[in-house]
Amino acid sequence: MYPEIKRRKTKEIFVGSVGIGGGNPIRVQSMTNTDTRDIKATLDQIFRLKSAGCEIVRVAIPDERAVSALREIVKESPIPVIADLHFDTSLGEKAVSADVSGIRINPGTFRNKKRLDSLIRACKERGVCIRIGINAGSLESALLKRYGHPTPEAMVESAKNWLEYIVSKHDYYNLKVSLKSSNWWQTVRAYELFSEALDFPLHIGVTEAGGLIPGTIKNTMAVSYLLLKGIGDTVRISLTADPVEEVYVAYEILRNLGLRSLYPDIIACPTCGRCEIDLIRLYEEVSAYAKKLRANLKLAVMGCVVNGPGEAREADLGIAGGKGVGIIFREGKIIQKVKEEELLKAFFEEIEKFLKEHPER
Ligand code: SF4
Repeated sequence: MYPEIKRRKTKEIFVGSVGIGGGNPIRVQSMTNTDTRDIKATLDQIFRLKSAGCEIVRVAIPDERAVSALREIVKESPIPVIADLHFDTSLGEKAVSADVSGIRINPGTFRNKKRLDSLIRACKERGVCIRIGINAGSLESALLKRYGHPTPEAMVESAKNWLEYIVSKHDYYNLKVSLKSSNWWQTVRAYELFSEALDFPLHIGVTEAGGLIPGTIKNTMAVSYLLLKGIGDTVRISLTADPVEEVYVAYEILRNLGLRSLYPDIIACPTCGRCEIDLIRLYEEVSAYAKKLRANLKLAVMGCVVNGPGEAREADLGIAGGKGVGIIFREGKIIQKVKEEELLKAFFEEIEKFLKEHPER
């Protein structure tokens, strides 16, 4: 059972071949944390991100050498690449020449409007998507002076001003917006205010959210709140962790809201004094296996034979451990009893069998 979500209608835009907004699914994106100048390391990470389900990737271009590496990265990348730039618009123009599909600009960090115009013209010529990435930490000084703090209202005003500038001066619409802060409620309020006024697609997430646990919690609060209200067209979960984790967290949120499902859901018990098997290890192995499957499936990993199958009745397939033995159950019924060391192999075989019988999954 899932909540009923009525998605807000936004303009459809494109980052390369990936449609965002309009009737497109909510997109999942991430950002590499390798040194962009290291082409191999960056491409390896992009391929890992793509395998996890990432649809668009952003890379930082801090200097000339990074932007030189970009052409090769874009050429080999299996997903559209967005260049992230601050301060120096000339690097942005070089990134556009290197065939990126998008650029992310933080207008608060640009001083020279003429140079910015030249970058926007270059993007328009090649249809490169521009994200106006407003960040509470780097708002324009005039707005900060007027509002006193980087309030949601100030962030929205900054985004509106820049959108109006690009649309009216350049007649360009392949634009999306983000309004990020490290405070989840401030982030939410900014997106809510913006979406009441304009229908440009929104890239949502909490910035500088922290490590895997705190960052996941902050992002889940903000992203779920917004998505439940129908706000948000593409998601980036920013974490101080391997960026592949960002992709997994994004899909977990989307799945739990009934918006998108990529790999199986796993029901797992927390274990208790009745557990006589190394359940945490079993769970990790099943979870790693499941992330490679692209199937709408519910699996269960339970700590004891007596309660496990009953407690995980809604699972398509599950395992439960006992003293040196384990059982495999399918739709609540026990179908195999195997030695603990053979449990995983037998379980994965049963999953393959199930998927052959249910190709629609
Ligand atoms: Fe405890 Fe068994 Fe329930 Fe797991 S399935 S929490 S081990 S009773």
